[in-house]
Amino acid sequence: MNEHTIEHIVIVGGGTAGWMAAAAISRFMNNGMTRITLVESDEIGTVGVGEATIPPILSFNHMLGIDEGEFLRATQGTYKLGIEFVNWGAIGERYFHPFGVHGEDLSGIHFHQLYLRERKARVMQDISAWSMSAVAASMGRFARPPAGAPFPAKDLYYAFHFDASLYAKYLRHYAERGGVRRIEGKIVDTTLRGADGHLESVTLGDGQVITGDLFIDCSGFRGLLIEQVLETGYEDWSQWLPADRAIAVPTALAGPPDPYTRATAHASGWQWRIPLQHRMGNGIVYSSRFLDDDDAERVLLANLEAAPIADPRRIRFTTGRRKLSWNRNVIAMGLSSGFVEPLESTSIHVIQAAIARLIALFPDKRFNPLERDEFNAQMRTLYEDVRDFIVLHYKATDRTDSDFWNHVRAMDVPETLQRKIDLFRAKGRVFREGYELFGTTSWVAVMLGQHIVPEDYEPPVDALDESRVAAALDEMRLAYLRTAEAMPTHADFIAATAAAPPPTPTFSFTDEVPGVLPFTGAPS
Ligand SMILES: Cc1cc2nc3c(=O)[nH]c(=O)nc-3n(C[C@H](O)[C@H](O)[C@H](O)COP(=O)(O)OP(=O)(O)OC[C@H]3O[C@@H](n4cnc5c(N)ncnc54)[C@H](O)[C@@H]3O)c2cc1C
Repeated sequence: MNEHTIEHIVIVGGGTAGWMAAAAISRFMNNGMTRITLVESDEIGTVGVGEATIPPILSFNHMLGIDEGEFLRATQGTYKLGIEFVNWGAIGERYFHPFGVHGEDLSGIHFHQLYLRERKARVMQDISAWSMSAVAASMGRFARPPAGAPFPAKDLYYAFHFDASLYAKYLRHYAERGGVRRIEGKIVDTTLRGADGHLESVTLGDGQVITGDLFIDCSGFRGLLIEQVLETGYEDWSQWLPADRAIAVPTALAGPPDPYTRATAHASGWQWRIPLQHRMGNGIVYSSRFLDDDDAERVLLANLEAAPIADPRRIRFTTGRRKLSWNRNVIAMGLSSGFVEPLESTSIHVIQAAIARLIALFPDKRFNPLERDEFNAQMRTLYEDVRDFIVLHYKATDRTDSDFWNHVRAMDVPETLQRKIDLFRAKGRVFREGYELFGTTSWVAVMLGQHIVPEDYEPPVDALDESRVAAALDEMRLAYLRTAEAMPTHADFIAATAAAPPPTPTFSFTDEVPGVLPFTGAPS
């Protein structure tokens, strides 16, 4: 600590982003000198959606020392092993995008390359039959793999479904215990410093002025500081992702909760189904160019498994990202920094990644532009990775049943995505560059699931004996089946985990998760 240490961090917004940031920063900046204040407005409220996550959320919770049972109880959480996609490649089809890996590599050859050769030789099951997470999901089973578990249990990767509002509430307690001061009030004005244009203070409706050294803008789509004050600009991606509306509606559960999200494509847009302990989260995502709001609501209500337990909630958005996530002394996180529709449940992860990067590049009062530029470059790459992966789901389809699908099937896609498609279509190659979020399993699952079938496989596969590879693949598949059969049902596992009194933390799943970016920046 010295005279340059940031003394006051002001977080604007108390949604998932605001409280995740407050909890993590209170844990990492607990230096006796830095104060944290969070301002939120009950009058404005939060976006109130966001229920599915990806595996790095485990690292975030672990970094905060959160007990999994307590967390499941507090958030009505369930386990998530991946996403089932229905009607995407063609009407009537389904495939599974699992967490974790497909099969075991043999002699340094990727499993999916072995699978591609086998597919040419004999009729094969879907590749998800070689995923521990997918097989357990298909049986409605779940068990947390113990640390150091051998094959195939080690290949079970998971995340959570939860009520994001309850998660924010849970993290609020955590952050307040860590010294974060919460102020309820609506920001109505701001002042900029003359010398460098940095944000100096925010003013609340009751006249209270809050000054700060560093401001974290978690104010949601409006981007109160990053856009309305600093006019940072927004990169609009709707030429590739035309969806700009969502309607969310919760229903009662029609049965035990499945350990996976379902994303069902409709004639224009798609519908999510996310099972929690106490309810089912449902919603439709669509483009106002192809479907009007009332028709979208009719489609959603006609495709529910149980009666709604609240009124449908309509949400508007523009897919894209803020041109700079960090501008002057303002860092945008959450919806204020960008939004790439919820098809792969990535937004909460992007918040987590922004927090990790901020901690790794934490500024002092001199605000070295190098730190800011590095943060912005990394966030840009992350957003673009997510964008490309989501665009793939729309582009790779044989559907011709509506103007919507004809539009997305025929559109040009970003060059970065086109290269990935071309490489895969030729010989099934997938390369993960730098800190790309989605790994080989994810790309292979979606490409094969949506009819991008490689013409060939990599030549080195032919060095492996065909009958031995075939036998190894059969053995693996049986091992996944037997292991899943031995697991408790998902509902039983939740009941046992969430019912336990808060024990000393037993959480041990700290390894880097293949296929997803690990949480970085935790102190050793
Ligand atoms: C349809 C949809 C589905 C989604 N599904 C998922 C999902 O499954 N998984 C996932 O990871 N993400 C999902 N998301 C994204 C997820 O909802 C958000 O990333 C997450 O909720 C974070 O929101 P936020 O905190 O940035 O904004 P918000 O929740 O909007 O919070 C904004 C905060 O700022 C405060 N505020 C605003 N203006 C002022 C002011 N003037 N003064 C004081 N306070 C102010 C508000 O009071 C509020 O507290 C989804 C988003 C949408 C739209």
